[in-house]
Amino acid sequence: MSAEIPNVRQVQGYCSLCIARCGTVATVTDGRFTRLDPDPTHPTGAAICAKGRAAPELVYHKDRLKRPLRRTRPKGDSDPGWEEISWDAALDQIAAAMRRIAEQHGPEAVAFSQSSPSTTAIADSAAFVVRLMNAFGTPNLVSALELCGWGRGFATRYVFGVGSVATGGAGGAMADIAESGCLILWGYNPSFTRITHATATVAGLKRGMKLIVIDPRNAGLANKADVWLRVRPGTDGALALGLANIMIERGWYDEAFVRTWSNGPLLVRSDTDRLLRTEDLVSGGSGQFVAWESESNRAVSYDPAAGRYEAPAALLARKLPARSGTPGPSLIMPGAGTSITPTARRRRGRWPCSML
Ligand code: SF4
Repeated sequence: MSAEIPNVRQVQGYCSLCIARCGTVATVTDGRFTRLDPDPTHPTGAAICAKGRAAPELVYHKDRLKRPLRRTRPKGDSDPGWEEISWDAALDQIAAAMRRIAEQHGPEAVAFSQSSPSTTAIADSAAFVVRLMNAFGTPNLVSALELCGWGRGFATRYVFGVGSVATGGAGGAMADIAESGCLILWGYNPSFTRITHATATVAGLKRGMKLIVIDPRNAGLANKADVWLRVRPGTDGALALGLANIMIERGWYDEAFVRTWSNGPLLVRSDTDRLLRTEDLVSGGSGQFVAWESESNRAVSYDPAAGRYEAPAALLARKLPARSGTPGPSLIMPGAGTSITPTARRRRGRWPCSML
């Protein structure tokens, strides 16, 4: 009996199962994809994760959806009555429904939905989904984040306008681990979720980079960290505020940037903890926010629409002058018996900082 020699091919490519896009070599045996290995000749091919290694299982799994299914029973029925239909039939049905909604209610009534580009294979198609949305005429996208770091990326985007990692159209910064002297991994285990960051971190450690890991679990690179801060789950906020407090007290921040680009200079009412508005000071005020100008010691307004203060940002005060012989940072509002303090002193956690 002679054994047939299998036809084995090795195909270079990359894993598209998440946005890390690790360089890979796929083995195809007799036309069947049988294994996926890292491609060390590729810049991101030092290693692949368990999901990448399981790629052949995903391709051939018996439960993998390969054709569109149409529901034949009403929503809520315990048996949806799925029936297989052709791609053409599915696309025609979806297009007709979208056109009907757009004609009746406008294209904005349609929201597109997609999984997280960071953790799923939609990464390579996400730009085409947005292009279709634009062509159709809706700005509405529901993008799931799953168990993912996008929440961290978008937090800084909403606080000071730029994502702490690249966040689509609003830009963002990808951590430059290769040039970092110290890296903080905060609730982030790249060994499981972004192999390229994990290998870059290990390379950084070899050249002397310091590593701080903040995680309740001794997970991933925590055992290689110079400092492993084992916070209790749910106490990250207190640690962040404590670190921000130290940074502010010691001046470890870009004061000019914060003064110009954050809400740090705005005054806060101590009785309501809300930002002071001009109508709190004078009747018929315009509702604009208020800061303190230190050169002529006066309140100045901030116009959020124009993004401008009534005075040059360089003159805005961090501390209010003492009043009525009372030392301290607060100012008593005229007639209200209410003290006000700059946002930066009351809401220290809002000063920007970023890490992975
Ligand atoms: S981290 Fe894993 S899933 Fe993501 S591209 Fe690399 S091998 Fe694929």
